[in-house]
Amino acid sequence: MRPALAGERAHRARAMLADCRLCAHDCGVNRLAGETGLCHAGAGTRFFSAQAEVSDELELIPTFAVAFSGCDLRCDFCITGAESWNSRAGLGFDAAAMAARAKVALENGARTIMVLGGEPTIHLPAALEFVSLVPATARLIWKTNAHGTAPARALLDGMFDVWLADFKFGNDDCAQRLAKVPNYVCVVRENLLWAREHSELIVRHLLMPGHVECCWRPVAEWLSEYLPGVKLNLRAGFWPAWQARRHGELQKSLSVKEVDAAFGLAHELGLDLIP
Ligand code: SF4
Repeated sequence: MRPALAGERAHRARAMLADCRLCAHDCGVNRLAGETGLCHAGAGTRFFSAQAEVSDELELIPTFAVAFSGCDLRCDFCITGAESWNSRAGLGFDAAAMAARAKVALENGARTIMVLGGEPTIHLPAALEFVSLVPATARLIWKTNAHGTAPARALLDGMFDVWLADFKFGNDDCAQRLAKVPNYVCVVRENLLWAREHSELIVRHLLMPGHVECCWRPVAEWLSEYLPGVKLNLRAGFWPAWQARRHGELQKSLSVKEVDAAFGLAHELGLDLIP
């Protein structure tokens, strides 16, 4: 069922590239004709990593993770910024060849298959083609920045077992300054609420130095009120990667005091923290 549906949706997703509104930047460019929007991705898809990984949530690993090149956000602290900002990085994506590699990984002990980026939403046609070719029983993870649109989500409905979604910023000013994305909070909330209804959902928040009160607190309070019981991975391993030096407060790691305060708030609100 899922493979056949995914194959049909892959065609529909490819047609949508003629007026691309896959993410909330809503560019409306014709990627099939060589135009590019804010993600700079064309009609083709490249990937910069495809391997078994063990650094994600315990319930998901080992996972066979496929990372597409390019992203619609511009997070200055991205740990894979060189590839995630560059849709031309890496190798050309062949869905059949990658599905064969995923199948071998599953046979060798991988518990899940994860599709990520960069951001996979900007490569929705390739992602769905990949889903159409992997074993129907595989547990599939959609690792996303939660910045997609309703039409993109409609094509994703029923395709992935788990949405592993970032909620990075608790306010639009920080999102604009650090990731050059407007109206961030509203879009992410909409995606998370949808994902909760249509799949399993795990939310990730990367704590950032100087952003516990402005970002983590509003994220935590919203999750507590609107997504009670959602699984949350609160990550304290920030390091000043990529272009983080552009922002004074990001030129360091988190203090012990900040980490204690962040986890204290999570416990106070009764959030369901997972490793
Ligand atoms: S995926 Fe998003 S950023 Fe890229 S062209 Fe489409 S709407 Fe624009």
